[in-house]
Amino acid sequence: MKIQSTMSGNKEKFQPIHNSRINLFVCGPTVYDDSHIGHARTYIAFDVVARYLKYKGFSVFYLQNITDVDDKIIQRAAETGTSPRSLAKRFERRYLEDMRALDVTNVSYYARATEHIPEIISQIERLIEKGFAYETKSGIYFDESRFQDFGKLSHQNTEDRELHRIEPDPTKRNPGDFSLWKKRQDGEEATWDSPWGKGRPGWHIEDTAITETYFGAQYDIHGGAMDLIFPHHEAEIAQMEATSGKKPLVRYWMHTGFLNVRGEKMSKSLGNFTTIRDMLQKYEADAFRFFVLLAHYRSPIDFSEEALEQAQKSLERIRQAAKIIEEQLETAPEPDSSATEGRDPAVVEAKARFLESMDNDFNTPYALKVVFDLVREVNRRINEKTISQKGLQDVGELLSEFGEILGLGFYATGRKPAEKNITENLIELLIEMRQKLREKKEWQLADEIRARLRELNILIEDAKAGGGKYTMK
Ligand SMILES: [Zn+2]
Repeated sequence: MKIQSTMSGNKEKFQPIHNSRINLFVCGPTVYDDSHIGHARTYIAFDVVARYLKYKGFSVFYLQNITDVDDKIIQRAAETGTSPRSLAKRFERRYLEDMRALDVTNVSYYARATEHIPEIISQIERLIEKGFAYETKSGIYFDESRFQDFGKLSHQNTEDRELHRIEPDPTKRNPGDFSLWKKRQDGEEATWDSPWGKGRPGWHIEDTAITETYFGAQYDIHGGAMDLIFPHHEAEIAQMEATSGKKPLVRYWMHTGFLNVRGEKMSKSLGNFTTIRDMLQKYEADAFRFFVLLAHYRSPIDFSEEALEQAQKSLERIRQAAKIIEEQLETAPEPDSSATEGRDPAVVEAKARFLESMDNDFNTPYALKVVFDLVREVNRRINEKTISQKGLQDVGELLSEFGEILGLGFYATGRKPAEKNITENLIELLIEMRQKLREKKEWQLADEIRARLRELNILIEDAKAGGGKYTMK
């Protein structure tokens, strides 16, 4: 099996650090708003990576972080008159709902930044001790000039990076030094105690504190969208390799291409985005997954409704064939159980080609072509009545297997688009309102909402951090 790593730019033979266990980390969302389908593209790509590695017999620990403390969260909370904490909770819940709706179900653990503050502080302390970080009036910074390898992932030298200066600040030693800890500013409520006073972590440090906690100083695969290579992933390498002295932080760097709309990257800042929720109002999750997998994960994808409709039609063609196979198997006599016939040669060949494609840096467009070729061949042989019962059965089983690997329901008779369940939405709305009342210390009203919901057999459990879950009896 080969994986292309962004570090070398080459396809490299895949050799995990521990024989059969793979540690995979993918950058998760910053929960200040709903995720869009550009994000979904990345998470679907890595869902298939995890599925395939499991299919190959590896045990996969797939870790994702949730950035639940960040400038964007604080800003959005202020704009909408809520607390950063409850805003983050709300969008985290919606993100997880979106992932379930997309059938992205292989993440083993979601690690929240706010639940790893001691680990973050410990890593910053070690960086200061080793002379890689320093304190200023505004916070703690990583001294980029002390880390020789800075730029090795994005293949940029210091001059290239001069063009990308993002945090100009006269108190820093070098303009490219990035923030590890931000000291509390007036009125800020999202803060934690630290050896440097009250404050909150920078963005890059949460990832390495989290991966160090669960994986140690080195691990197998780090994934994310291409725009995270610089400065985010470069910063991760600097932080962890400087802390541990061990290289490399990661064996294989996998980056997904952009999802473009009319040649421009879909992004919040450009305003050209479609949320996952909006897309799922109109299309089936599997149609979107199929559309995503028609491109290699590193390639850009051009999104349009026409392309998505085309993908839906192609998926229907495969399902149609699967249905015909099922019908044929039902109506025809049982195959002679004493027959020692081997697997149908078309099936053997299709399986080999499919695995070869997936082994070649998860080449899903080729793998899907194999599926199409197989379906065409089977349709022809059914029409010509040249396929045996055993052959049909083999093809049916193989189609299920392919569907399982790719996370596509070839036999699903059209999973419905995620229908908004009005009851659930109303309950969530009430819980959110109640949470706001609690924040304003309007205990009486908050308790009344809880009591009235209880009469309807809906029980709210208050989480310590706010928000809260509910159960229906
Ligand atoms: Zn990250």
